[in-house]
Amino acid sequence: MACFLCAYGRNRVPKTPDTPASTIPPPRDVGTCQRCSVHACSRHGARVGQFICAICEGADVVEHAIVSEAVTVGAGSGGGLSKARLIGAGAPDSVITLVGEALRRITQDSDVQPGPSDRLELASPGAGSPNLVFNLSESIREVGGEQAGFRNDVAEAPERGVSIDAISDVVRERFVGRQIVFTDAAAPAVTGALVIAVRVAHEPDVSIEDAVRLAPWEMSDPLLLDPVMWMVSTAVRQVTMGMGPVPA
Ligand SMILES: [Zn+2]
Ligand SMILES: [Zn+2]
Repeated sequence: MACFLCAYGRNRVPKTPDTPASTIPPPRDVGTCQRCSVHACSRHGARVGQFICAICEGADVVEHAIVSEAVTVGAGSGGGLSKARLIGAGAPDSVITLVGEALRRITQDSDVQPGPSDRLELASPGAGSPNLVFNLSESIREVGGEQAGFRNDVAEAPERGVSIDAISDVVRERFVGRQIVFTDAAAPAVTGALVIAVRVAHEPDVSIEDAVRLAPWEMSDPLLLDPVMWMVSTAVRQVTMGMGPVPA
């Protein structure tokens, strides 16, 4: 069995997660991710409480930080959360504020819970109003994903293998019926989680400032960015595009 991230990522050595050196060479897998079930190698997975792959590490922290009743894998057991908080603590105040505004937008959009028939409706490309949580694909189209060169159709860009409609479906189903609660205390951890995620899906050396401001469709490996992080990253782009603060 081979590592999913080695198979689908560019050929580079990640700096995260910080696992001890292993004598089992990548891309041989050492475990199955408890959150998404991919196999990951010693460079692309970490175990504290349970084994989690590098794609899920940041997303697990975000869910832990913004969903009160979240069932997360490693965040609460001393894995990703402490690492994300450490990275977030090193971020400039302006970056923390930016992520905080993005989370406020996500929280506001999460108040518009779709009913069962709405959910089927929203799964159609082009249907419904933009909503970061329940109709992410339309939010991405709104902030200019297609102009930025991202091809939203797998058939048009098979080498990318990413459809924003499929990503949007995953986010919607993940948060339907769950309450997103944002507190300012969550912003540093989510900032760190976003940096962790972008260092997997883009470049391991990307700075905190650049990682937070990069849109998902601008990353080199958008397939290695968890849908939950697509949501956070798109929300940040909304703020940096000056779509204005959400009224308190
Ligand atoms: Zn690997
Ligand atoms: Zn995973």
